[in-house]
Amino acid sequence: MGLVEELTALLGEERVTEDPFALLMYSKDAGASRGHADLVVFPETTEEVAEVVRIVSRHGVPIVARGAGTGLAAGAVPNEGGVVVSLKRMDRIHEVDVENRTAWVGPGVINLDLSVATQPYGLHFAPDPSSQSVCTIGGNVANNSGGPHCLAEGSTVAHVLALEVVLADGEVTTLGSAAPDPIGLDLRGVMIGSEGTLGLVTKVLVRLLPNPPDVRTLLLAFDTVEDAAATVSGIIAAGVVPAALEMMDQAMAVAVENWLHGGLPVDAAALLLAEVVGETAAVEAEAEVIRRIGTEHRARSIELAADEEQRAMLWKGRKSAFGAVAQTAPDYYLHDTVVPRTRLVETLSQIYEIARRHRLAIMNVFHAGDGNLHPLIAYDSGDPDETERVRKAAEEMVEVCVSRGGVLSGEHGIGLEKRDYMPMLFNEVDLDAQARLKECFDPDGVFNPTKILPQGSRCFDLGSRPVPDGAWV
Ligand SMILES: Cc1cc2nc3c(=O)[nH]c(=O)nc-3n(C[C@H](O)[C@H](O)[C@H](O)COP(=O)(O)OP(=O)(O)OC[C@H]3O[C@@H](n4cnc5c(N)ncnc54)[C@H](O)[C@@H]3O)c2cc1C
Repeated sequence: MGLVEELTALLGEERVTEDPFALLMYSKDAGASRGHADLVVFPETTEEVAEVVRIVSRHGVPIVARGAGTGLAAGAVPNEGGVVVSLKRMDRIHEVDVENRTAWVGPGVINLDLSVATQPYGLHFAPDPSSQSVCTIGGNVANNSGGPHCLAEGSTVAHVLALEVVLADGEVTTLGSAAPDPIGLDLRGVMIGSEGTLGLVTKVLVRLLPNPPDVRTLLLAFDTVEDAAATVSGIIAAGVVPAALEMMDQAMAVAVENWLHGGLPVDAAALLLAEVVGETAAVEAEAEVIRRIGTEHRARSIELAADEEQRAMLWKGRKSAFGAVAQTAPDYYLHDTVVPRTRLVETLSQIYEIARRHRLAIMNVFHAGDGNLHPLIAYDSGDPDETERVRKAAEEMVEVCVSRGGVLSGEHGIGLEKRDYMPMLFNEVDLDAQARLKECFDPDGVFNPTKILPQGSRCFDLGSRPVPDGAWV
């Protein structure tokens, strides 16, 4: 039987599609790259995923896992063709263990749905990507996603205890466990952030956190980006690690306000959104520290959200910022790099300079507390000259961040988008070690081939391993 016939026999016609419109939709994610899906399948159980992997591997065709397709680094883009395995129908919350504050969930569960479902128990899942109303837990695991509230609590890797995974030969294994300190190599940690290149995640044991008893949310406005950035460093240096510490520059604030109509001070050069959570006495004391440091850095206004409604409005503005940009240009290129917090000011001014030099419209909204920058370039992909300038500017921005002691990605992953920048950060031996790890999990390169690691990542590909005399190669 051919590939389509075998998969249809397993899943039925309704869950195997070659429909041209569906193939088009599944050929890209939320980023700029496009691939070509040959087929999309929708398994609903671990057993079906395992059988899909066995069948597709036998046919020697690439397998690209997909959650909601909100990734921004082309991780779910089938750039080499092949079968897109959509995990979105595996969206059951299997079990909530309230006493141990954990839950086993399917990879297709929407991030926000998990916190809504555990709300009656006073629990939530801490990682909250701005895309949380649509992105899946499987995608969060694969990208080790972060979010505004990951500053104090850590990104996805800190909130996942165990994973059920289908390996390249169709075997099903569990990595990690509910035990607080599991023995053996931390293969759970290896799988998290591997962007669908090592296996397909079919179940996730997540850690849940108690909802905080109290919260204070402050909006600080500044006349310079420098003062806002210095306030970020000052708050953390003072020993306060807010639950969230987010920054928005003026151009972004204007785009958000045009859509939100929430009364944001759009004449300020930069806005800082700071949130502290915990017991009432603690949050009041921490909010006071934030006020003091903001004032020391010439904040022109400091507003405390008066009630839950105002707090929700501020977060709606922050979490919808990328969408709000749609009014200004047909496309946007969203960067994701990290620099040490103390180098935010100089890095930002270089980023503005790069955009100016390439005549590009730039806006910034980012997780300032983590030093995780998200320069956003609004442009028109129908204009080849502008698109080329975006590409060049993006590369220069990565170079600037790396030269300031930063890394290529804070949360969106490497995928295809940053793959060819990997040698900026890793030497041949580093890349070889990662390529060997990939081979251990996936010797035939079935899962998401050509992602993350640039071609020639094995040392012998790079010619750095001398070939002994007389050896047959
Ligand atoms: C408006 C907007 C805001 C965003 N904000 C944030 C943010 O604040 N923080 C952040 O970190 N990201 C953010 N993102 C990026 C994106 O939403 C996250 O990376 C998210 O976790 C991707 O989830 P997904 O379900 O859409 O995954 P997809 O895009 O479908 O896939 C992402 C990667 O995961 C792999 N994958 C998916 N499911 C599985 C599985 N079950 N097993 C193995 N591999 C799998 C895919 O192959 C791919 O490599 C944002 C994106 C948008 C569009």
